[in-house]
Amino acid sequence: MDYNTDVITGIAKQVAEAFKAALTQGHQAEEPSPTIAEVEKDMRGMLRQIGVEALSVFLSTGQGTPAAELPCACGGTLQYQRRRPAIVTSVFGKITYERAYYAGCACGQGKAPVDERYGLEPGAMTSGLAALLGLAGVEFAFDESRAWLQAFLLFEVSENTVRSETQTLGALQAERETGWVEQSQDEDYLQARLRDTAPLPTRLYGSLDAAKVRIEPRPKAGKKPEKQDDWRDLKVGCWYEAEPVPPSQRSVRQRDKFDREHAVFRAKNMRYYCDILEAEEFGKLLWATGCALRADLARELVFVCDGAVWIWNLVKLHYPHAVQIVDWYHAEDRLKRVAHAAFTVERDRAAWLEQVTTHLWDGQVEAVIRACEAVTLSCAEAQHAVTYFTNNASRMRYDQFRAAGYLIGSGTVESGCKQIVTQRLKRPGAQWNVDGAVHTAKARAAWLSGDWDILCTRRAALPLAV
Ligand SMILES: [Zn+2]
Repeated sequence: MDYNTDVITGIAKQVAEAFKAALTQGHQAEEPSPTIAEVEKDMRGMLRQIGVEALSVFLSTGQGTPAAELPCACGGTLQYQRRRPAIVTSVFGKITYERAYYAGCACGQGKAPVDERYGLEPGAMTSGLAALLGLAGVEFAFDESRAWLQAFLLFEVSENTVRSETQTLGALQAERETGWVEQSQDEDYLQARLRDTAPLPTRLYGSLDAAKVRIEPRPKAGKKPEKQDDWRDLKVGCWYEAEPVPPSQRSVRQRDKFDREHAVFRAKNMRYYCDILEAEEFGKLLWATGCALRADLARELVFVCDGAVWIWNLVKLHYPHAVQIVDWYHAEDRLKRVAHAAFTVERDRAAWLEQVTTHLWDGQVEAVIRACEAVTLSCAEAQHAVTYFTNNASRMRYDQFRAAGYLIGSGTVESGCKQIVTQRLKRPGAQWNVDGAVHTAKARAAWLSGDWDILCTRRAALPLAV
C-alpha cells in the first residue's frame, strides 16, 4: 500500500510533538536524558496505542447508513438493531469497536456485516495476530514464545493462546492434506492431471524418515496415569529438487567436496509433510502430496532414504518406477560401526575401513559384503551389516548414481526431521498429546515448506466457515 507522503509527514510531526511533550513532562531536571533505546521503546509504545485507536476508528466508521434489513443465511430476514460494541485482540492489542448489528430472524442468528467482512470473531483475535502467534509457536516452545512475543508486540499473550493458535494452523494444514488424500484417490482427478499441459518435473527427489516424539500419558479422571511416557514415531517426508551450489556460495566443506567429486548440489523447493501414523496410512499422504506435485509423472523420480524397511515398502508400493538410493551417510556409518566393533587395533581398523569405504563409493557392494563376512565370526555388528548390504545392494550403486548426477545423501529430509522434531517437538519444557504434537509439527512443516501464507489466509476465513 502506498501512502501520501505529505499525510505521513504531517502525522509524524504530530506524533513527535506529542511524544516530546510527554517526555518533558515526565522528565526531572536532574535526571540524565533518555537513551535512544529508551526513546525507541517508549515511542513504540505510543505508536501501539495509536494503532489501537486507529484500528478501532477504522472498524467503527465508514460503514454508511445501515440498511434496515439484510437477508439471513437461513433464507429469512434480519432487522437492523443498533450499533453494538465488540472486542477483539489485534496486533496492536485489545481494541473495542462499534458496528451495525442485525437480529430478529426466526432462526435466532445475529449478524454484524463488518465482522463478516474482516473475519472478526468478537472476543477472539484477529487473523493478523493469530499468524504472528503461530509463527512464534512453530519456532519456540510455547512458554518461550510468550516472552519472545511480548518483546515484539509490547503486550502479553498467554502460553495457552500461542499453543491454541499454532495448533489451529496445524489443524488447517491437516485439513488441506485430507483434501489432497481424497483428491489423490479420485479417478477423475488423476485422469485430469494427465491432460495438464504444464511442464512436468524433470528430476524430483523424495525422502522419508522418522523420529521419536515423547507423548505424555494423560491422567484419567481420579486415576494415576497408567504408564510412563510413550514414544511415538513422527514420520516426515520431503519432496525437493537439486541445484548446483554456485562457486561463490560454497562452504569450506563443499569446496573440498567439489575438489574430490567435481560437483556439489543442494536441495531446493523443499516441501515437508509429517504425521504420527502407521506406515500404511502415512503412505496415503506420501501418494497424495506426490500427486499434487505430479511426482508420479516426473521424468525422473529419485528416493534417497535410510535403509528402514517400511520406507522402501512404501516407495515400491506407490512409486514403483522410482530410482531407489540408500543414503550414503547411513551406509558409510554402517561400515564405521562394523570397523569399531570388529577391530581392536586402530591401524587395522583404519585400513579396513578405508578400503571398504572406497569399495562402497565405487559401487562394489559385493566386495563390501565379502569384507564384512570376513569379520562376522565374533562380531554381531558385521553379521547385521551383511544382511543390510545384501538387502540394499541395488540401492547402493553409488558409482552409477554419481555418474547420473544424483544426490546420494538424504540430508534434506533428515534436516527436516531435525528442524521439525529435534528443534521444536523436543525443546525443553515441551509436553505433548498426539494431536498437539501432530498439529504443531504440521504447522512447522508448512512454514518450512513456504506454505505459511496459505495457512494464514485459511485462518483469516475461519470465523466465516463456522
Ligand atoms: Zn435466519
